Amino acid sequence: MRRVSILGATGSIGQNTIDLIARAPNAYDVVALTGAGNIEQLAKDARRLKADVAVTAHDHLLEDLRTALEGSGVEAAAGTPAIAEAAARPADWVMSAIVGAAGLAPGLAALQQGSTLALANKESLVCAGQLMLSTAKTHSARLLPVDSEHSAVFQALVGEDMAAVERIIITASGGAFRDWPIEDLANATLDQASSHPNWDMGQRITIDSASMFNKAMELIETREFFGVEPKQIEVLVHPESMIHAMVGFRDGALMAHVGPPDMRHAIGYALHWPTRCDLPVARLDLAEIGQLSFRAPCETRWPALRLAREVMQAGGLAGAVFNAAKETALDGFIAGQIGFNDMAAIVEDVLTQMSAPRGHIDATMSLDNVAKVDHLARQEATRAIHKRAG
Ligand code: NAD
Ligand code: MG
Repeated sequence: MRRVSILGATGSIGQNTIDLIARAPNAYDVVALTGAGNIEQLAKDARRLKADVAVTAHDHLLEDLRTALEGSGVEAAAGTPAIAEAAARPADWVMSAIVGAAGLAPGLAALQQGSTLALANKESLVCAGQLMLSTAKTHSARLLPVDSEHSAVFQALVGEDMAAVERIIITASGGAFRDWPIEDLANATLDQASSHPNWDMGQRITIDSASMFNKAMELIETREFFGVEPKQIEVLVHPESMIHAMVGFRDGALMAHVGPPDMRHAIGYALHWPTRCDLPVARLDLAEIGQLSFRAPCETRWPALRLAREVMQAGGLAGAVFNAAKETALDGFIAGQIGFNDMAAIVEDVLTQMSAPRGHIDATMSLDNVAKVDHLARQEATRAIHKRAG
């Protein structure tokens, strides 16, 4: 039996992972499930999957979790350190599906155990890519991509030599506002930004898709995962979300990965890698789909893409600043304090503030320094939000 843990088990990726694991209950020994506020879901899944431990991020919910698990034999724990401890329990495969920078420390803890880490939490690569990669190397742990684009690239690279790779193209649906007049974006509401044309995902990543901050983070994620130069990575708007990524080779060939917009494909690929197993995803009927379309991304509509390129150029801890500022600006938009376009403006302000002098950016990439820079960037972003909110 394979020992598996799911960090962020109650979220969209976590639930899709559980869907796959629950189909073959005898194949998996579930070690840890973690969540935050949704105690009912966490306890229900922990009972059903007979997990060793269930952990909520919120200390004050420990009693609720204990009550919900009474008589099940599942251990209950709470708090951020308890999540990292659960991630450090010996497991063969760990799904990293916490949203935001909160996923970094637990992901590192799993890598330090030598576990295979299936990485949905792109924020950890954006904040601390080199630290993640070096930790994996030191502990002979493996990182597998779960983000659909990166899983697609990973699959297109099977058997290939990285030296033959000329470029990597990641696609973007364009999110909720792809076809809106640019001048209307300033007034986009939370509800409008929270609905995605193709994918059913958590609210934060859905809004990040509308602003393209999600794709901006994926540009950085691509650079870290595959070790290519920023100029080798392209974003292509592809409204149908059928082709997830393409890899271009020196001989001019483009290998495209085509599949339905269902995260269970990428999760299942990481779960069964290096083999392929039956997965309960739709089979595409391309004759019925008829046409696929593509267009170049507009950087006026989506300034986040330009900011990601600046972050890659800056290097060091600029990614941690970028992510923290983005998370705080997103909180501000969700809370109704700032408008949709203010998110990119705030992230740009914070990057400018914290890049000269470069002291923070050039600090060694340790978990402590990433946390420090993250904290400062959140403070700067909060100040910028208050300034804009008047
Ligand atoms: P979600 O909001 O649906 O779920 C997030 C999970 O993290 C929940 O289990 C929640 O309890 C937990 N969580 C939230 N805050 C926490 C904290 N402070 N400490 C510990 N746990 C916390 O998010 P999601 O859409 O499943 O996304 C999860 C990750 O996967 C994100 O990094 C996202 O960018 C990435 N991802 C998601 C999709 C998708 O289709 N949903 C696709 C690609 C990548
Ligand atoms: Mg993606």
